[in-house]
Amino acid sequence: MALVVVKFGGTSVGDVARIANAAAKVAAEVKRGNKIAVVVSAMSGVTDQLLGYCHQISSRPDRREQDAVVSSGEQVTAGLMAIALQSQGLQARSWQGWQVPLRTDAAHTKARIVTLETDGLRQRIEDGEVAVMAGFQGVTEDGSIATLGRGGSDTSAVALAAALKADRCDIYTDVDGIYTTDPRIVPAARKLHRVTSEEMLELASLGAKVLQTRSVEMAMRYRVPVQVLSTFDAAIGSDFPGTLMTDEDPTMEQQTVTGIAYSRHEAKLTLVGVEDHPGAAAAVFGPLAKAGISVGMIVQTASASEDDRTTDITFTVPRGEADHATHVLDEARASLRYGALRADKNVAKISIVGLGMRSHPGVAAMLFETLAARGINIQAIETSEISLGVLIAEEYTELALRALHTAYGLDAVESSREG
Ligand code: ASP
Ligand code: MG
Repeated sequence: MALVVVKFGGTSVGDVARIANAAAKVAAEVKRGNKIAVVVSAMSGVTDQLLGYCHQISSRPDRREQDAVVSSGEQVTAGLMAIALQSQGLQARSWQGWQVPLRTDAAHTKARIVTLETDGLRQRIEDGEVAVMAGFQGVTEDGSIATLGRGGSDTSAVALAAALKADRCDIYTDVDGIYTTDPRIVPAARKLHRVTSEEMLELASLGAKVLQTRSVEMAMRYRVPVQVLSTFDAAIGSDFPGTLMTDEDPTMEQQTVTGIAYSRHEAKLTLVGVEDHPGAAAAVFGPLAKAGISVGMIVQTASASEDDRTTDITFTVPRGEADHATHVLDEARASLRYGALRADKNVAKISIVGLGMRSHPGVAAMLFETLAARGINIQAIETSEISLGVLIAEEYTELALRALHTAYGLDAVESSREG
Protein backbone atom coordinates (compact mmCIF):
# COMPACT_ATOMS: atom_id res chain seq x y z
CA MET A 1 0.00 0.00 0.00
CA ALA A 2 1.25 3.42 -0.89
CA LEU A 3 0.09 6.94 -0.16
CA VAL A 4 0.02 8.78 -3.47
CA VAL A 5 -0.86 12.37 -4.30
CA VAL A 6 -2.44 12.43 -7.74
CA LYS A 7 -2.65 15.74 -9.59
CA PHE A 8 -4.79 16.39 -12.65
CA GLY A 9 -3.98 19.36 -14.87
CA GLY A 10 -6.45 21.49 -16.78
CA THR A 11 -6.76 19.28 -19.86
CA SER A 12 -7.21 16.21 -17.64
CA VAL A 13 -10.33 17.80 -16.14
CA GLY A 14 -11.30 19.78 -19.26
CA ASP A 15 -14.90 18.62 -19.31
CA VAL A 16 -17.15 16.34 -17.27
CA ALA A 17 -16.26 13.25 -19.33
CA ARG A 18 -12.60 13.86 -18.59
CA ILE A 19 -13.31 14.38 -14.91
CA ALA A 20 -15.03 10.98 -14.93
CA ASN A 21 -11.97 9.49 -16.69
CA ALA A 22 -9.70 10.99 -14.03
CA ALA A 23 -11.95 9.67 -11.26
CA ALA A 24 -11.74 6.19 -12.79
CA LYS A 25 -7.94 6.34 -12.53
CA VAL A 26 -8.22 7.24 -8.87
CA ALA A 27 -10.65 4.37 -8.36
CA ALA A 28 -8.17 1.99 -10.00
CA GLU A 29 -5.44 3.19 -7.63
CA VAL A 30 -7.70 2.69 -4.62
CA LYS A 31 -8.53 -0.80 -5.89
CA ARG A 32 -4.82 -1.59 -5.85
CA GLY A 33 -4.88 -0.78 -2.15
CA ASN A 34 -3.43 2.71 -2.32
CA LYS A 35 -4.49 5.74 -0.31
CA ILE A 36 -5.03 8.78 -2.48
CA ALA A 37 -5.11 12.54 -2.17
CA VAL A 38 -6.12 14.30 -5.38
CA VAL A 39 -5.11 17.83 -6.37
CA VAL A 40 -6.94 19.49 -9.25
CA SER A 41 -6.38 22.42 -11.59
CA ALA A 42 -9.19 24.47 -13.05
CA MET A 43 -10.81 23.09 -16.21
CA SER A 44 -8.62 24.09 -19.16
CA GLY A 45 -9.18 27.67 -20.26
CA VAL A 46 -11.09 28.64 -17.14
CA THR A 47 -8.29 30.51 -15.38
CA ASP A 48 -7.65 32.56 -18.53
CA GLN A 49 -11.34 33.30 -18.84
CA LEU A 50 -11.62 34.43 -15.22
CA LEU A 51 -8.51 36.59 -15.57
CA GLY A 52 -10.05 38.04 -18.71
CA TYR A 53 -13.15 39.14 -16.78
CA CYS A 54 -10.98 40.93 -14.21
CA HIS A 55 -9.07 42.76 -16.92
CA GLN A 56 -12.22 43.72 -18.79
CA ILE A 57 -13.34 45.62 -15.70
CA SER A 58 -9.99 47.12 -14.78
CA SER A 59 -6.60 47.29 -16.42
CA ARG A 60 -5.07 46.88 -12.98
CA PRO A 61 -7.46 44.82 -10.90
CA ASP A 62 -6.92 44.66 -7.16
CA ARG A 63 -4.79 41.58 -6.60
CA ARG A 64 -6.70 40.31 -3.59
CA GLU A 65 -9.95 40.41 -5.52
CA GLN A 66 -8.35 38.93 -8.63
CA ASP A 67 -7.29 35.96 -6.49
CA ALA A 68 -10.84 35.65 -5.17
CA VAL A 69 -12.02 35.36 -8.77
CA VAL A 70 -9.41 33.08 -10.33
CA SER A 71 -9.23 30.65 -7.41
CA SER A 72 -12.86 29.74 -8.09
CA GLY A 73 -11.79 27.62 -11.08
CA GLU A 74 -10.16 25.08 -8.81
CA GLN A 75 -13.03 25.25 -6.31
CA VAL A 76 -15.37 24.06 -9.06
CA THR A 77 -13.19 21.17 -10.20
CA ALA A 78 -12.52 20.01 -6.64
CA GLY A 79 -16.25 19.70 -6.00
CA LEU A 80 -16.92 18.04 -9.35
CA MET A 81 -14.09 15.60 -8.79
CA ALA A 82 -15.46 14.64 -5.36
CA ILE A 83 -18.88 14.02 -6.93
CA ALA A 84 -17.28 11.95 -9.73
CA LEU A 85 -15.36 9.87 -7.17
CA GLN A 86 -18.53 9.29 -5.18
CA SER A 87 -20.19 8.09 -8.40
CA GLN A 88 -17.38 5.52 -8.62
CA GLY A 89 -18.48 4.26 -5.22
CA LEU A 90 -15.65 5.92 -3.31
CA GLN A 91 -15.85 8.07 -0.23
CA ALA A 92 -14.54 11.49 -1.17
CA ARG A 93 -14.68 15.14 -0.14
CA SER A 94 -13.27 18.35 -1.49
CA TRP A 95 -10.94 20.66 0.42
CA GLN A 96 -10.46 24.31 -0.48
CA GLY A 97 -7.07 25.78 0.32
CA TRP A 98 -8.41 27.57 3.39
CA GLN A 99 -10.10 24.42 4.66
CA VAL A 100 -6.90 22.35 4.76
CA PRO A 101 -5.43 24.93 5.53
CA LEU A 102 -2.65 25.68 3.10
CA ARG A 103 -1.24 28.95 4.43
CA THR A 104 0.54 31.40 2.18
CA ASP A 105 2.22 34.77 2.45
CA ALA A 106 0.33 37.86 1.32
CA ALA A 107 1.91 38.17 -2.13
CA HIS A 108 -1.37 37.91 -4.01
CA THR A 109 -1.23 36.30 -7.48
CA LYS A 110 2.21 34.80 -6.77
CA ALA A 111 1.97 33.77 -3.13
CA ARG A 112 4.43 31.40 -1.50
CA ILE A 113 3.37 28.53 0.71
CA VAL A 114 4.20 29.07 4.37
CA THR A 115 2.70 25.96 6.00
CA LEU A 116 0.39 23.14 5.12
CA GLU A 117 -1.40 21.62 8.10
CA THR A 118 -2.58 18.22 7.03
CA ASP A 119 -3.78 16.64 10.28
CA GLY A 120 -7.47 16.83 9.45
CA LEU A 121 -7.00 15.78 5.86
CA ARG A 122 -4.72 12.91 6.81
CA GLN A 123 -7.20 11.58 9.35
CA ARG A 124 -9.93 11.40 6.70
CA ILE A 125 -7.56 9.65 4.27
CA GLU A 126 -6.67 7.10 6.93
CA ASP A 127 -10.37 6.52 7.48
CA GLY A 128 -10.66 5.53 3.82
CA GLU A 129 -11.75 8.77 2.19
CA VAL A 130 -10.19 10.27 -0.92
CA ALA A 131 -9.20 13.89 -0.25
CA VAL A 132 -9.60 16.26 -3.18
CA MET A 133 -7.69 19.50 -2.69
CA ALA A 134 -8.20 22.52 -4.90
CA GLY A 135 -4.81 23.39 -6.35
CA PHE A 136 -3.34 26.85 -6.93
CA GLN A 137 -4.91 28.42 -3.83
CA GLY A 138 -4.24 29.01 -0.17
CA VAL A 139 -5.16 31.38 2.59
CA THR A 140 -3.19 34.34 3.93
CA GLU A 141 -2.75 35.20 7.58
CA ASP A 142 -5.61 37.69 7.38
CA GLY A 143 -7.95 35.10 5.91
CA SER A 144 -7.82 36.18 2.26
CA ILE A 145 -7.58 33.68 -0.58
CA ALA A 146 -4.25 33.86 -2.40
CA THR A 147 -3.05 32.03 -5.52
CA LEU A 148 0.37 30.57 -6.20
CA GLY A 149 1.09 31.89 -9.71
CA ARG A 150 0.28 30.36 -13.09
CA GLY A 151 0.81 26.62 -13.09
CA GLY A 152 0.68 26.70 -9.28
CA SER A 153 -1.36 23.53 -8.92
CA ASP A 154 1.81 21.53 -9.52
CA THR A 155 3.33 23.24 -6.52
CA SER A 156 0.19 22.59 -4.46
CA ALA A 157 0.45 18.89 -5.33
CA VAL A 158 4.13 18.53 -4.50
CA ALA A 159 3.64 20.52 -1.29
CA LEU A 160 0.81 18.22 -0.25
CA ALA A 161 2.91 15.15 -1.05
CA ALA A 162 5.76 16.58 1.04
CA ALA A 163 3.48 17.43 3.95
CA LEU A 164 1.80 14.01 3.90
CA LYS A 165 5.19 12.30 3.38
CA ALA A 166 3.53 10.56 0.46
CA ASP A 167 5.37 7.84 -1.40
CA ARG A 168 4.93 9.63 -4.70
CA CYS A 169 3.25 12.48 -6.51
CA ASP A 170 1.77 11.55 -9.90
CA ILE A 171 1.14 14.49 -12.21
CA TYR A 172 -1.34 13.64 -14.95
CA THR A 173 -1.02 15.93 -17.92
CA ASP A 174 -1.36 15.97 -21.71
CA VAL A 175 2.17 14.73 -22.42
CA ASP A 176 3.27 11.21 -21.54
CA GLY A 177 6.61 12.10 -20.02
CA ILE A 178 9.85 13.99 -20.45
CA TYR A 179 11.82 13.27 -23.62
CA THR A 180 15.52 13.33 -24.46
CA THR A 181 14.65 16.27 -26.69
CA ASP A 182 11.64 17.70 -28.51
CA PRO A 183 10.14 14.75 -30.46
CA ARG A 184 8.54 17.17 -32.92
CA ILE A 185 12.02 18.14 -34.08
CA VAL A 186 13.91 14.91 -33.48
CA PRO A 187 11.77 11.88 -34.33
CA ALA A 188 14.33 9.60 -32.67
CA ALA A 189 13.77 11.30 -29.28
CA ARG A 190 13.05 8.85 -26.45
CA LYS A 191 10.92 9.10 -23.37
CA LEU A 192 13.06 9.13 -20.24
CA HIS A 193 12.04 6.68 -17.57
CA ARG A 194 13.91 8.54 -14.91
CA VAL A 195 15.34 11.99 -14.55
CA THR A 196 16.74 13.81 -11.53
CA SER A 197 15.20 17.05 -10.36
CA GLU A 198 18.50 18.79 -11.04
CA GLU A 199 18.36 17.66 -14.65
CA MET A 200 14.70 18.54 -14.86
CA LEU A 201 15.45 22.14 -13.92
CA GLU A 202 18.16 22.34 -16.58
CA LEU A 203 15.98 20.70 -19.20
CA ALA A 204 13.77 23.77 -18.94
CA SER A 205 12.55 23.76 -22.51
CA LEU A 206 11.59 20.10 -22.31
CA GLY A 207 10.63 19.47 -18.75
CA ALA A 208 10.10 22.51 -16.62
CA LYS A 209 7.60 23.69 -19.21
CA VAL A 210 5.56 20.66 -18.20
CA LEU A 211 5.85 21.38 -14.48
CA GLN A 212 5.91 24.71 -12.70
CA THR A 213 9.58 25.31 -11.84
CA ARG A 214 8.73 25.94 -8.19
CA SER A 215 7.24 22.46 -7.94
CA VAL A 216 10.48 20.90 -9.20
CA GLU A 217 12.48 22.90 -6.69
CA MET A 218 10.14 21.81 -3.93
CA ALA A 219 10.33 18.16 -5.00
CA MET A 220 14.11 18.46 -4.86
CA ARG A 221 14.11 20.04 -1.42
CA TYR A 222 11.67 17.59 0.17
CA ARG A 223 12.77 14.57 -1.86
CA VAL A 224 9.35 13.87 -3.28
CA PRO A 225 9.41 11.42 -6.21
CA VAL A 226 7.29 12.97 -8.96
CA GLN A 227 5.97 11.09 -11.95
CA VAL A 228 4.80 12.93 -15.08
CA LEU A 229 2.34 10.83 -17.09
CA SER A 230 -0.44 11.13 -19.61
CA THR A 231 -4.02 11.27 -18.55
CA PHE A 232 -5.03 9.84 -21.94
CA ASP A 233 -3.11 6.54 -21.59
CA ALA A 234 -4.85 3.54 -20.12
CA ALA A 235 -2.06 2.90 -17.61
CA ILE A 236 -2.30 4.36 -14.12
CA GLY A 237 0.53 5.85 -12.05
CA SER A 238 1.25 2.63 -10.17
CA ASP A 239 2.15 1.01 -13.51
CA PHE A 240 4.90 3.66 -13.88
CA PRO A 241 4.24 4.48 -17.54
CA GLY A 242 5.61 8.04 -17.35
CA THR A 243 8.86 9.77 -16.42
CA LEU A 244 9.82 9.48 -12.78
CA MET A 245 11.71 12.42 -11.39
CA THR A 246 13.59 11.17 -8.41
CA ASP A 247 16.71 11.66 -6.34
CA GLU A 248 20.12 10.93 -7.60
CA ASP A 249 20.61 7.25 -8.31
CA PRO A 250 24.06 5.88 -8.98
CA THR A 251 22.95 3.99 -12.07
CA MET A 252 21.93 7.27 -13.65
CA GLU A 253 25.50 8.40 -13.92
CA GLN A 254 26.17 5.83 -16.58
CA GLN A 255 24.37 8.01 -19.07
CA THR A 256 26.59 11.04 -19.65
CA VAL A 257 24.07 13.22 -21.44
CA THR A 258 20.43 12.77 -20.46
CA GLY A 259 18.76 15.24 -22.76
CA ILE A 260 19.14 18.24 -25.01
CA ALA A 261 17.10 21.37 -24.44
CA TYR A 262 16.72 24.37 -26.68
CA SER A 263 15.36 27.85 -26.39
CA ARG A 264 14.34 30.32 -29.04
CA HIS A 265 13.55 32.91 -26.42
CA GLU A 266 16.94 34.56 -26.36
CA ALA A 267 18.42 37.62 -28.01
CA LYS A 268 22.09 38.51 -28.27
CA LEU A 269 23.35 42.00 -27.55
CA THR A 270 26.91 43.10 -28.26
CA LEU A 271 28.53 46.26 -27.01
CA VAL A 272 31.46 47.02 -29.28
CA GLY A 273 34.40 49.09 -28.11
CA VAL A 274 33.61 49.37 -24.41
CA GLU A 275 36.34 51.18 -22.45
CA ASP A 276 38.20 48.44 -20.62
CA HIS A 277 38.79 49.35 -17.00
CA PRO A 278 37.72 47.98 -13.62
CA GLY A 279 34.02 48.59 -13.23
CA ALA A 280 33.22 48.39 -16.94
CA ALA A 281 31.06 45.27 -16.57
CA ALA A 282 29.35 46.69 -13.51
CA ALA A 283 28.53 49.82 -15.51
CA VAL A 284 26.87 47.69 -18.21
CA PHE A 285 25.00 45.18 -16.09
CA GLY A 286 24.07 47.50 -13.22
CA PRO A 287 21.53 49.51 -15.24
CA LEU A 288 20.12 46.31 -16.78
CA ALA A 289 19.61 44.76 -13.37
CA LYS A 290 17.96 47.95 -12.15
CA ALA A 291 15.57 47.73 -15.10
CA GLY A 292 14.70 44.18 -14.05
CA ILE A 293 16.28 42.59 -17.13
CA SER A 294 17.91 39.26 -16.44
CA VAL A 295 21.08 38.52 -18.33
CA GLY A 296 21.94 34.97 -19.40
CA MET A 297 25.23 34.13 -21.10
CA ILE A 298 28.06 36.67 -21.03
CA VAL A 299 31.19 36.77 -23.18
CA GLN A 300 33.82 39.46 -22.77
CA THR A 301 36.83 39.53 -25.05
CA ALA A 302 40.17 40.85 -23.86
CA SER A 303 41.54 44.06 -25.33
CA ALA A 304 43.16 43.34 -28.66
CA SER A 305 46.48 44.84 -27.63
CA GLU A 306 48.24 46.68 -24.81
CA ASP A 307 47.35 50.11 -26.15
CA ASP A 308 43.86 49.18 -27.28
CA ARG A 309 41.91 50.01 -24.18
CA THR A 310 38.56 48.72 -25.39
CA THR A 311 36.77 45.42 -25.26
CA ASP A 312 33.59 43.86 -26.66
CA ILE A 313 30.91 42.50 -24.36
CA THR A 314 28.32 40.07 -25.69
CA PHE A 315 25.42 38.77 -23.62
CA THR A 316 21.96 37.33 -23.93
CA VAL A 317 18.66 38.61 -22.57
CA PRO A 318 15.14 37.21 -22.96
CA ARG A 319 14.03 38.04 -26.51
CA GLY A 320 10.97 39.89 -25.27
CA GLU A 321 13.22 42.23 -23.29
CA ALA A 322 15.76 42.94 -26.03
CA ASP A 323 14.24 46.27 -27.04
CA HIS A 324 13.96 47.38 -23.45
CA ALA A 325 17.61 46.41 -22.85
CA THR A 326 18.70 48.31 -25.96
CA HIS A 327 16.85 51.35 -24.72
CA VAL A 328 18.44 51.13 -21.26
CA LEU A 329 21.94 50.87 -22.75
CA ASP A 330 21.26 53.76 -25.15
CA GLU A 331 20.30 55.91 -22.22
CA ALA A 332 23.41 54.92 -20.30
CA ARG A 333 25.65 55.60 -23.27
CA ALA A 334 27.03 58.88 -22.00
CA SER A 335 28.49 57.28 -18.90
CA LEU A 336 29.22 53.88 -20.44
CA ARG A 337 31.11 55.04 -23.52
CA TYR A 338 30.98 52.30 -26.10
CA GLY A 339 31.40 52.28 -29.86
CA ALA A 340 28.28 50.54 -31.04
CA LEU A 341 25.43 48.38 -29.81
CA ARG A 342 24.28 45.45 -31.92
CA ALA A 343 21.21 43.33 -31.30
CA ASP A 344 20.52 39.94 -32.87
CA LYS A 345 17.22 38.22 -32.20
CA ASN A 346 17.87 35.30 -34.55
CA VAL A 347 19.70 33.13 -32.09
CA ALA A 348 18.90 29.93 -30.26
CA LYS A 349 20.42 28.32 -27.20
CA ILE A 350 21.08 24.59 -27.27
CA SER A 351 21.88 22.97 -23.93
CA ILE A 352 23.06 19.46 -23.29
CA VAL A 353 22.15 18.25 -19.82
CA GLY A 354 23.25 15.28 -17.79
CA LEU A 355 24.25 14.40 -14.27
CA GLY A 356 27.02 12.23 -15.70
CA MET A 357 28.71 15.25 -17.27
CA ARG A 358 30.27 16.00 -13.90
CA SER A 359 32.61 13.07 -14.19
CA HIS A 360 32.97 12.48 -17.91
CA PRO A 361 35.58 14.48 -19.79
CA GLY A 362 35.17 14.94 -23.51
CA VAL A 363 31.52 15.99 -23.41
CA ALA A 364 32.33 19.55 -24.44
CA ALA A 365 34.73 18.45 -27.18
CA MET A 366 32.01 16.26 -28.66
CA LEU A 367 29.65 19.25 -28.71
CA PHE A 368 32.11 21.54 -30.44
CA GLU A 369 33.22 18.92 -32.96
CA THR A 370 29.67 17.96 -33.86
CA LEU A 371 28.67 21.56 -34.51
CA ALA A 372 31.91 22.34 -36.35
CA ALA A 373 31.38 19.38 -38.68
CA ARG A 374 28.02 20.92 -39.65
CA GLY A 375 29.54 24.36 -40.15
CA ILE A 376 27.58 25.78 -37.20
CA ASN A 377 29.30 28.68 -35.48
CA ILE A 378 29.18 29.02 -31.70
CA GLN A 379 28.54 32.58 -30.55
CA ALA A 380 28.60 32.14 -26.78
CA ILE A 381 29.04 29.35 -24.27
CA GLU A 382 27.53 28.78 -20.84
CA THR A 383 28.38 26.01 -18.42
CA SER A 384 27.06 24.62 -15.18
CA GLU A 385 28.08 21.47 -13.36
CA ILE A 386 25.56 19.37 -15.25
CA SER A 387 24.91 21.35 -18.42
CA LEU A 388 26.63 23.01 -21.31
CA GLY A 389 24.85 25.60 -23.43
CA VAL A 390 25.83 27.17 -26.72
CA LEU A 391 24.33 30.07 -28.61
CA ILE A 392 23.98 29.54 -32.35
CA ALA A 393 22.12 31.11 -35.28
CA GLU A 394 18.45 30.19 -34.92
CA GLU A 395 18.21 28.71 -38.41
CA TYR A 396 20.48 25.83 -37.32
CA THR A 397 18.36 24.78 -34.32
CA GLU A 398 16.89 21.65 -35.88
CA LEU A 399 20.14 20.58 -37.52
CA ALA A 400 22.08 21.01 -34.28
CA LEU A 401 19.51 19.14 -32.19
CA ARG A 402 19.42 16.15 -34.53
CA ALA A 403 23.19 15.97 -34.91
CA LEU A 404 23.82 16.21 -31.17
CA HIS A 405 21.08 13.73 -30.31
CA THR A 406 22.84 11.18 -32.50
CA ALA A 407 26.35 12.14 -31.38
CA TYR A 408 25.55 11.57 -27.72
CA GLY A 409 23.94 8.21 -28.41
CA LEU A 410 20.44 9.33 -27.46
CA ASP A 411 18.61 8.14 -30.58
CA ALA A 412 16.01 5.47 -30.03
CA VAL A 413 16.93 2.15 -31.56
CA GLU A 414 14.06 0.30 -33.20
CA SER A 415 13.91 -2.44 -30.58
CA SER A 416 13.59 -0.03 -27.66
CA ARG A 417 10.97 2.23 -29.23
CA GLU A 418 8.46 0.88 -26.78
CA GLY A 419 10.66 1.39 -23.78
N1 ASP B 1 -5.37 27.05 -12.98
C1 ASP B 1 -4.10 27.68 -12.74
C2 ASP B 1 -3.45 28.09 -14.05
O1 ASP B 1 -4.04 27.89 -15.11
C3 ASP B 1 -3.19 26.83 -11.93
C4 ASP B 1 -2.81 25.52 -12.57
O2 ASP B 1 -3.54 24.99 -13.40
O3 ASP B 1 -1.76 24.98 -12.22
O4 ASP B 1 -2.38 28.61 -14.05
MG1 MG C 1 0.26 23.07 -15.60
